[in-house]
Amino acid sequence: MEANNKIIILTAPSGAGKTTIKTKLLEEIPELLSFSVSATTRKIRSGEKDGVDYVFLSENDFKEKIDQHEFVEWEMVYPGLYYGTTVDEMKRIWNEGKTPLLDIDVQGAINVKKQFGENVLTIFIAPPSIEVLRERLTKRGTDTAEHIQTRINKATEEIGYKNNFDAIILNDDLTKATNDTISAVLNFISKG
Ligand code: 5GP
Repeated sequence: MEANNKIIILTAPSGAGKTTIKTKLLEEIPELLSFSVSATTRKIRSGEKDGVDYVFLSENDFKEKIDQHEFVEWEMVYPGLYYGTTVDEMKRIWNEGKTPLLDIDVQGAINVKKQFGENVLTIFIAPPSIEVLRERLTKRGTDTAEHIQTRINKATEEIGYKNNFDAIILNDDLTKATNDTISAVLNFISKG
């Protein structure tokens, strides 16, 4: 990694509004940022595209990549489901002269920060409350009740880590949260 190669990480409990903020960020400053496409073993959801939202892999292929040290970080984010950021994806984006935007879980964010330190900006999007989170996950309609409970349990744990991050953005007002995130990103990219 070269001294000026930076990484920006958006992390949040699922349902905190991270995806909306991520989409806005990429729309607003496409000349500076490029979304880092992770690999995962979870099933593709309707509306998702292989190679765009994720690279969807079998568990065997994923484990092969772990053995070959192809990941900057990887986690079993949910029981039996692997997610990881590849070295190749980071290099591809740096070679375009852009900064990779990672949408990864809290443990993954802490892990990347440990490896790359000052070159990483970690942003935690905090939901207003667990109740609002539950409402959003239910409305989204992509998960079963059991999955929602798993995600709520994980969210409760993740909120406990929020002070580990460079910036905490409370998402009680989406427009404000988006603007605050864009400011934090521009500020980080423009320095040194
Ligand atoms: P989903 O299955 O809803 O797309 O994502 C579940 C969670 O996995 C999200 O919190 C997302 O940020 C996280 N995630 C996605 N890609 C990666 C990755 O490459 N590494 C890690 N550690 N987490 C990831």
